[in-house]
Amino acid sequence: MSDLRFRVVETAFKKKAIEVPAPKERPSEYFGKYVFNKAKMFKYLPTKVYQSLMDAMDNGTPLNRDIADAVAAGMQKWALEMGATHYTHWFHPLTEGTAEKHDAFVEHDGKGGMIEEFSGKLLIQQEPDASSFPSGGIRNTFEARGYSAWDPSSPAFIVGDTLCIPTIFIAYTGESLDYKAPLLKALQAVNKAAVDVVRYFNPEVKKVICNLGWEQEYFLVDEGLYAARPDLLLTGRTLMGHESSKNQQLEDHYFGAIPTRVAAFMTDLEIESLKLGIPVKTRHNEVAPNQFELAPIFEECNLANDHNLLVMALMRKLARRHGFRVLLHEKPFKGINGSGKHNNWSLGTDTGILLLGPGKTSEENLRFVTFVANVLMAVYRHNGLLKASISSATNAHRLGANEAPPAIISSFLGKQLSQVLKHLAESTKDDLVSLSGKQGMKLDIPQIPELLIDNTDRNRTSPFAFTGNRFEFRAVGSEANCASAMIALNAAVAEQLVIFKKEVDALIEKGEPKISAILEVVRKYIIESKAIHFDGNGYSDEWKEEALKRGLDCETSVPVIFDNYLNESSIKMFETTGVMTKVELEARNEVKWETYTKKIQIEARVLGDLAMNHIIPMATKYQSQLIDNVYKMKDLFPGEKANTLSTKNLEIIEDIAKRTIFIKEKVDEMIETRKVANIIEEEREKAIAYHDKIVPMLEEIRYHIDKLELIVDDQLWTLPKYRELLFIR
Ligand code: ADP
Ligand code: MG
Repeated sequence: MSDLRFRVVETAFKKKAIEVPAPKERPSEYFGKYVFNKAKMFKYLPTKVYQSLMDAMDNGTPLNRDIADAVAAGMQKWALEMGATHYTHWFHPLTEGTAEKHDAFVEHDGKGGMIEEFSGKLLIQQEPDASSFPSGGIRNTFEARGYSAWDPSSPAFIVGDTLCIPTIFIAYTGESLDYKAPLLKALQAVNKAAVDVVRYFNPEVKKVICNLGWEQEYFLVDEGLYAARPDLLLTGRTLMGHESSKNQQLEDHYFGAIPTRVAAFMTDLEIESLKLGIPVKTRHNEVAPNQFELAPIFEECNLANDHNLLVMALMRKLARRHGFRVLLHEKPFKGINGSGKHNNWSLGTDTGILLLGPGKTSEENLRFVTFVANVLMAVYRHNGLLKASISSATNAHRLGANEAPPAIISSFLGKQLSQVLKHLAESTKDDLVSLSGKQGMKLDIPQIPELLIDNTDRNRTSPFAFTGNRFEFRAVGSEANCASAMIALNAAVAEQLVIFKKEVDALIEKGEPKISAILEVVRKYIIESKAIHFDGNGYSDEWKEEALKRGLDCETSVPVIFDNYLNESSIKMFETTGVMTKVELEARNEVKWETYTKKIQIEARVLGDLAMNHIIPMATKYQSQLIDNVYKMKDLFPGEKANTLSTKNLEIIEDIAKRTIFIKEKVDEMIETRKVANIIEEEREKAIAYHDKIVPMLEEIRYHIDKLELIVDDQLWTLPKYRELLFIR
């Protein structure tokens, strides 16, 4: 076993790229091959059924039982033709990831045989035996069961031999137990609120759609090396490992040529993604060695989110085919960049207007600044909550660590948009609106050049940046379900737009013309939300001080950040928008705290084991060799000379002794501290104990292990080193 490291390094070096056969058809032909999309619905469903289903998909009209039966029959026919033998309700429990329980398409035929069956009832609702999914106690307190229910707005698809039906997962008492149910509610809320506002400008608009374009960052590590790192295997990150002498300093990996084994993996991933209807478009190396990125073309938010979850599952599966493991953890390696998932977010109308994109006329630009000002106001009011929505034990390593968005939410707007907003804030209403003869009202809103759209000044340090016709929420973690961030953001914007509409209508009621009423409220918002606007360097210490002065949420302890979900303004916001009730919020926070504790607990155990079973034995073995050498020197040389010649070895012997003692004592202390924390009953308090007490110990122990890695004979070191994990591919 002790030579495992060398064997896996040797094997990894010899690996060649796997041949990925090019599909015979063109991408446009195999795109969506495994999806029960509109074209297939049209083909497999009677016209009336098809129309009802379209109505359900586009407008949320409920489907009756007969229609559901007919849809199920058509879906089953298609699935069987595609070779599927099983079906599953596919849902997003409150773990990061998806869940499924497969059932075969067979039922008793009543004559002693079996028939392939799939009814509307089975399509619409299932009761998975899901009692072990996290529920924050909702199902214990209210009703033992939860059920999954079909989401017709996201099409069914086939993976392997299984028809997957996207569903929400809820308790019998109605509370959401997943991410999808509240996401759909938040999307509905923002649709309604935004339609009401956009109609000031475009009365014909019937629907506002939220768009999401995610950019998924990830690391690939050779499978053999991965297997030789129990910490990666069990926690998703390296709990120890000294920095490689070369890492990302030269920035030679970013946008460089893609290594061949990786390129094969990417090609495979793209083909499989396209077959599942995921419009993947961009692939490239990222900043850190062995770090890469994949991005599709943006889609409707609910669908985009399903696609992101599918892509993560595909990555995990396909990486193995290519002898890799994919690391989706936000910070697998210390000292180099972590991975995020930028969420490009925008609102668009059914008539094709991008509401966060500047227009050509003054009226279009007023609409644009109206939506921008409302978004800023929402982000300002709920900056703590938005931070909570992206916080987790794993993302905590990335945020605030000098190379990712800081742990403070602010918004970057860029020079041009900042100037426009400044102009609006500083002008009086009369400056902005003048009655100019026959043309009627003239608006003085500076034109925002088209150029902006392609040429947005890039500020990589901002967690929520305006990028031309959308905002890019960059603080989202690579492993996270995007829904968490999208629920909070869309609900906050929905609430804000409702408030805006009320304020504007009140002014109109008082006799103010519509345009100047809108301008007045927009101006007020620009001034009020000023604290959230920050175009400077988000990594700097000055910003931390400044943000505190501005009253932004600067908390860095994840369990405490979660409190934001339960403050008065968050509860009010989620309840008035109909997205979540207080009971749901409380239950979900229990889950968040519990998950936090468990993750740190696992890390602590793994680190403790590795320290005792790998590190101390290796270090001691090397130390014994040195001691042996010192004694032998005494045999060879006269006393004084032997001492002089052994000075350095004696120093190393002592150094190893001190560090191993420290490690052993800290590991013991950590075990005792965990025992104390584990008996705390309240999940919040327990998570805080883990954060305050255990997390710093992990770092202290690691520090000495990493120092030992530098001293101990490389031949004795059993764990693959950073240079091997990061540069072999
Ligand atoms: P980068 O930020 O690295 O320059 P891209 O310009 O390639 O990335 O875009 C990143 C993502 O943003 C893609 O998924 C793209 O489809 C998406 N995107 C582009 N425009 C919008 C928009 N208006 N709304 C939402 N997402 C968008
Ligand atoms: Mg981006």
